[in-house]
Amino acid sequence: MNATNPPRGLLLDMDGVLYHGERVLPHARAFLEATARLPRVFVTNNPIRTPAEVAARLRDLGLGEIPAGDILTSGVAAARWLAKERPGFRFYAVGADGLHRVLAEQGTEDPEAADFVVVGEGPGLDYDTLTHGLHLLLKGARLISTNPDATVDAVRDGEHLVLPGGGALVAPFAVASGQTPVPIGKPEPLLYEMALERLGLSAADCVMVGDRPDTDIAGAARLGIRTALVRSGRFAPGEPWPEGLPRPDWDQPDLGALLADWRARWPKRFDAPAEMQG
Ligand SMILES: [Mg+2]
Repeated sequence: MNATNPPRGLLLDMDGVLYHGERVLPHARAFLEATARLPRVFVTNNPIRTPAEVAARLRDLGLGEIPAGDILTSGVAAARWLAKERPGFRFYAVGADGLHRVLAEQGTEDPEAADFVVVGEGPGLDYDTLTHGLHLLLKGARLISTNPDATVDAVRDGEHLVLPGGGALVAPFAVASGQTPVPIGKPEPLLYEMALERLGLSAADCVMVGDRPDTDIAGAARLGIRTALVRSGRFAPGEPWPEGLPRPDWDQPDLGALLADWRARWPKRFDAPAEMQG
């Protein structure tokens, strides 16, 4: 793919790119500073936190003031998509609090007459919620999956944990009802399309920076967005490229190396600190 034009906008994954668990990744701050003049959308498949909570987390990690409006979670994307499909929608949600809250900004929580059963991540799935959701689905509600991840990484008390992801949590609803869920998050196109809309740019003008070949890179490449993989999260330096997945335009160990590459290519765009450029 053509990598000769500097990006006019960025889509940035966060976990494994800017931070990993509670740890800020090397060069994340420098990268954010060097790209501060570009329009950016911070995209995440994680539907647990609201954009305001994500912004607070970035601030607490010392990554600066990112406006909540620049943060697009799979929960927010789900809420917007549902509002477009059915204005004033009614929903039954299974997942963490943050998901219920972002959905309630666009629709109404109504466990008795839901148009949609929305399954996210975090606590909420048990025998009763599965039974209730199944009954709604059998009565005609549509099944929505905020994100297809089989597992997600988490840190609790300094310890790395692997938790069930949105794909694993929606599976029992899909099996029981026979419905195929509508998928919202990466690598499906919806989240990217909403991010491009927010940036007001075409796919070819943007670069997606992520740490996962199967979601971040594959999904963006499918839409014609240029891609930069950083091997600072899920995918380690030296790991062979997974067969059948598109190669990224940049494949770098971390954001520092990516920034160095961009500075060498486009010194005017990325060299000086933002306040020194005209
Ligand atoms: Mg990631």
